[in-house]
Amino acid sequence: MRVGYGYDVHRLVEGRKLVLGGVHIPFEKGLLGHSDADVLVHAIMDALLGAAALRDIGYHFPDTDDRYKGISSILLLKRVGELLEEKGYAVNNIDATVVLQRPKLAPYIEQMAANIAEALGTEKTSVNIKATTTEGLGFTGTGEGVAAQAVATIKLVP
Ligand code: MG
Repeated sequence: MRVGYGYDVHRLVEGRKLVLGGVHIPFEKGLLGHSDADVLVHAIMDALLGAAALRDIGYHFPDTDDRYKGISSILLLKRVGELLEEKGYAVNNIDATVVLQRPKLAPYIEQMAANIAEALGTEKTSVNIKATTTEGLGFTGTGEGVAAQAVATIKLVP
């Protein structure tokens, strides 16, 4: 078994859609980025790549590449799943936390886990998504940005 860790932050701005875990969440702001800026999926991809010692998402999907402009991060996650498979790895489990003050994510958590599990061809019971606030403190507390952290374990397929 191998373990990897991922961390990401995106700025929350007006005029963008808020997409987390592949779910479009109705909100007055969205995350700024080259892709759809799905900060949760980005942290998960980095955890998976880290577990396999396959560097990071900036290496595989550079933000200078127009192919990734506005792309759904769920599609990039699928590609990460393929990269792992090529190395003989399968996802064991993923545990991730989204850090933001608003909006409340509880109604969307199940769908996020389902989207992530589906993209990776793994069981939904292998993916856990959590959300927390920082009690109004820091950039996540003021709503300037959203952070996400993820841990993933992967195993060699016999
Ligand atoms: Mg990112």
